[in-house]
Amino acid sequence: MPDLNVLTRYDCDRDQLAALLDDQPTYRVDQAWHGLYQLRCEPDDMTSLPMALREQLTHQLPLALAVAARSTSDEGATIKWLWTCGDGSQIETVLMHYDDRSTVCVSTQSGCAMGCRFCATGQAGYGRNLSVGEIVEQVIHAQQQAGADHRRVSNVVFMGMGEPLANFDQLDAAVRRLHGDLGLSARHLTISTVGLVPGIDRLAHSDLPVNLAVSLHAANDTLRDELVPINRRYPLATLEAACVRYLDAKGRRLSFEWALIDGVNDQPRDAAELADIAYRLRAHVNLIPLNPTPGYLTQGTPRRGVVDFRDALRERGVRATVRQNRGTDIDAACGQLRATAEAAPVALRRSRPT
Ligand code: SAH
Ligand code: SF4
Repeated sequence: MPDLNVLTRYDCDRDQLAALLDDQPTYRVDQAWHGLYQLRCEPDDMTSLPMALREQLTHQLPLALAVAARSTSDEGATIKWLWTCGDGSQIETVLMHYDDRSTVCVSTQSGCAMGCRFCATGQAGYGRNLSVGEIVEQVIHAQQQAGADHRRVSNVVFMGMGEPLANFDQLDAAVRRLHGDLGLSARHLTISTVGLVPGIDRLAHSDLPVNLAVSLHAANDTLRDELVPINRRYPLATLEAACVRYLDAKGRRLSFEWALIDGVNDQPRDAAELADIAYRLRAHVNLIPLNPTPGYLTQGTPRRGVVDFRDALRERGVRATVRQNRGTDIDAACGQLRATAEAAPVALRRSRPT
């Protein structure tokens, strides 16, 4: 039996809420759940509940995340938060408004154990797994912000800090909450992985039709071993076999993420190697120029090189798009706000305060 007094608001599942309100009629549990997931408001604003109950919920179900920093860029179309969790860990969330959708990028761990050289989160090392509530609450805050911006969160990408498939159980429970209680279409949820084969296999057998993105960055083992150290445990042939099993089980499209690093993985030979594997798996390729990080100062590929690389893929029959680089002036790339905040708080002044 969990200690109900230390549950955070969105860690609390429906049974636990019912236990918390066991002296109340069932419809009160429904009203409170509705307030949490449909109205997404503070208990104080759940006007259908009696005052004493609102106070009880405020007191017994505190939020898990406190804002440590918030910044906007792209004329308000990109909003980034740095949150402090109950134990002092810091994580980040980014909300991006596009013409046709609003996407929130959430973290699943504080830090990351995978140690990819070019990634600020990897450079910082591993903290811990986030709880279901900490993951869900990031989406709730983004939905509240989107509402204030007269928008609606339509997509969630698990591409913030951490490796989602290394925190599988909480990820799975959070996905179910987003789908079942927040009403987000599973087809609009995308899990990004560095290539953890056991996690891909578990996902292949999950009943929810979420999207899978594999962060490839190199299509030969020598380079991938160097950029993405987990490749030594799950080399490309093993990873490709897992992708095939995933495709067979799910019948869903797969995508590859490829951060273009100047002079490292952006040459014609790299495009040819990537095209081979992407063609075999019918995968869509998302290209993004690398954002330089404090621990890996190599630049992203310049614009011309990005276009050439994309065209080289397309010529080989591979669908490839260049991802818009959102929020570069607020360091809205994986783990970078925290890295900047720790290294030089003054750097945050570059972004417009809100
Ligand atoms: N751990 C998961 C999800 C979080 S990282 C994964 O690796 O897929 C989300 C994406 O950001 C990954 O594709 C990752 O490779 C990419 N990324 C990390 N650091 C980056 C950087 N400095 N510039 C551009 N993309 C980066
Ligand atoms: Fe972890 Fe992903 Fe960063 Fe690699 S790129 S260190 S897996 S967060």
